Amino acid sequence: MFGLLSLPKLILTVAIVMGVWYGFKWLNQRQAQIKQAAKNKRRQPKQAAYSQTDEPDIEEMMPCPNCGAYVAKGSNHRCG
Ligand SMILES: [Zn+2]
Repeated sequence: MFGLLSLPKLILTVAIVMGVWYGFKWLNQRQAQIKQAAKNKRRQPKQAAYSQTDEPDIEEMMPCPNCGAYVAKGSNHRCG
């Protein structure tokens, strides 16, 4: 039954199966990439929020009246 005429059909069937398989693989990879991108997007605003909360600490830095060095308020800075 598997003559020369059925061989192209077999190759075509295999090609279609392979195409569907790789299509699913590609889709899964894309979905994973989209999920990771979404995770990264969620992380970045959080990091920005953290850096914003850190900024007031920088604003609270005061110049030392003795040496002029900017030191954080309440830090145990001692000159000489
Ligand atoms: Zn000082």
